[in-house]
Amino acid sequence: MSVAACVFGMFAISDFYLLGLTKEFYLLLAMRIVVVSVCLMVACVVRRWWRNDYRVWLHALPLWVFATGIILIVPLRPESLPTQITAVVVATMAFYLLIPNPLTVVTAASLYLNIGFLVAAVLFARLAPVATLLVALLLIMGNVVGFFALLRLECLQRKQYALLQEEREQNHQLHKEIAHRKSLEEQLRVVAERDALTSLNNRGHFIKLAKELLQHSQSCKEPFCLFMIDVDHFKDINDIWGHSHGDWVLTRIAEVCAESLRPTDVIGRFGGEEFVVALPETSLNDAQPVAERLKKRVAELSLTEEIGKLRPSVTVGVASTNSDDTDLETLIKRADEMLYVVKRRGRNQVVVCLNEIEEE
Ligand code: GH3
Ligand code: MG
Ligand code: MG
Repeated sequence: MSVAACVFGMFAISDFYLLGLTKEFYLLLAMRIVVVSVCLMVACVVRRWWRNDYRVWLHALPLWVFATGIILIVPLRPESLPTQITAVVVATMAFYLLIPNPLTVVTAASLYLNIGFLVAAVLFARLAPVATLLVALLLIMGNVVGFFALLRLECLQRKQYALLQEEREQNHQLHKEIAHRKSLEEQLRVVAERDALTSLNNRGHFIKLAKELLQHSQSCKEPFCLFMIDVDHFKDINDIWGHSHGDWVLTRIAEVCAESLRPTDVIGRFGGEEFVVALPETSLNDAQPVAERLKKRVAELSLTEEIGKLRPSVTVGVASTNSDDTDLETLIKRADEMLYVVKRRGRNQVVVCLNEIEEE
């Protein structure tokens, strides 16, 4: 719009050469200044302030101003009609193809320019009937070419927009699908690694993690401990309070056990009412107080009102290794054996594997 305004303004130079400093020249100059100023102002307003709804009509305004300006040149410079016919054809094409506007708006403005120009040419430049017919044909051709070019352009733009929308929609769907798959993957991972009741590591995942920790401890020549924890008389809890209540107690005990450990320790549900803990970088001397604390906290659960009458407790078997060749299965076996030896003597106790003390 700004470029068209400037081009229109620059024709003042040709006016000067043709008319000199005459009254007609000044009138033309004033008209050109008005047209250029209005167009530049509209361009400025459209860019800065106006909301989209009004832009269509504001965009169209310069077309009408330009058209009026071009028509007004005829009475002021009738002798340069051939040049003006060329200018009208060029302006018509520019209306259709260079200044962005909807087809209907452009067609209306273009018809106004062409018909207005032809009428002005007949009235003020005394155009002969045959010449009028020829000029009319030329202008009609210009309009037809411009109209169909813009129609095709709009058609292509619509198709392009539809494709863009489709692509956006597909992208959106793809993102949704990726998010859905990620959440499914996460759910699968949880199902594969976690125990459904207590949310602790399940047996398989615990063994995987514990093996890695044991290997690391052995390669760094660091001590490693393992707890086997068994809930005491859990069958009685189930029998007296029901299986679902037993589930709930099991969950609370699992929580208390997990809370009693360090973040580096790994806990898992070994099966039934048995839990297992891997304690890396932990000697027997350090592990024993941890096991005592864990046992004590479970026993303290009976102090809470809702669990009071159940008096749950745990017995903990502790096994440890400093030697390089002890594998996880051997450690688990040792802790488990100790656990059942002490179960025969009583409950709510911590017992340390004697083999290990012998090894030390
Ligand atoms: P002990 O002190 O000798 O360990 O006795 P206990 O009763 O704890 O041991 P026992 O092996 O006789 O019984 C374990 C009970 O734990 C039997 C089983 O029904 C129950 N149990 C195992 N898994 C679950 C579970 O997921 N939920 C519930 N509620 N009970 C379970
Ligand atoms: Mg058991
Ligand atoms: Mg038990």
